[in-house]
Amino acid sequence: MKTIELKNVSKIYKNGVKALDNVSLTVKQGEFIAVMGQSGSGKSTLLQVAGLLDNCTSGQVIINRNDVSSLNKNLLADVRMKSLGFVFQSFHLNSHLRAYENIMVPMLINPEYKTKSEMKERALHLAETVGLSNRIDHYPGELSGGEQQRVAIARALSNNPDFILADEPTGNLDSKNEIAIFDELKRLSTSGKGVLVVSHNDAVKDYADRILIMKDGVLEQ
Ligand code: ADP
Ligand code: ADP
Repeated sequence: MKTIELKNVSKIYKNGVKALDNVSLTVKQGEFIAVMGQSGSGKSTLLQVAGLLDNCTSGQVIINRNDVSSLNKNLLADVRMKSLGFVFQSFHLNSHLRAYENIMVPMLINPEYKTKSEMKERALHLAETVGLSNRIDHYPGELSGGEQQRVAIARALSNNPDFILADEPTGNLDSKNEIAIFDELKRLSTSGKGVLVVSHNDAVKDYADRILIMKDGVLEQ
């Protein structure tokens, strides 16, 4: 069983703000976990620390049984590439690349893919799975918000990670697209990926297997 485990994790920023206060959490494959809570409660920090985008001040982060504090920079990058996919509120697409090229970006650093045509083939397949086949040659500026977020999800899937971490993935979307994105994330969790979504959108409650509330850096279970 693949897992992300946080054990007694605290995060104090340089300015003295304690954004995470003794947080423990396990995300398993096939599980959709939603973390809700007010703005400033520490949700983004939780995702950044669980996703190895930032380090914690104390406690342990264990991904697929690797205690990440024991890994050097290269191994950390390797775990991040192979095990984790990220989706952000503001999509974070490269506006100079077409949809399928955006999806290919993470594959460029994955030695598993040898040729551009192999990467493109996989990108097209992923675009199809998120319902974007007819938009693959478009640039982000030519796509709606919902379409851009589907490109971002396909990109998060490009290296076939065990986990998808999403930070307010519907924050910039209308309610129709909200549903489409949560549906897509749910599909991924039922297909065996672990999904950790940070959101203050009530709609996520209809999708999550577990809903956790973050309050002043404390995760209420
Ligand atoms: P949320 O995602 O729930 O809005 P955040 O994790 O972004 O909460 O923020 C938690 C707390 O940490 C807030 O008080 C915020 O101001 C503070 N914070 C977030 N990022 C930083 C940072 N890089 N440096 C200092 N303080 C930060
Ligand atoms: P979706 O249901 O995917 O959000 P919309 O109904 O919002 O799609 O938009 C339909 C079409 O209009 C999209 O396929 C897209 O090509 C175009 N479109 C919508 N919003 C934008 C935008 N902000 N910029 C460029 N094109 C857009």
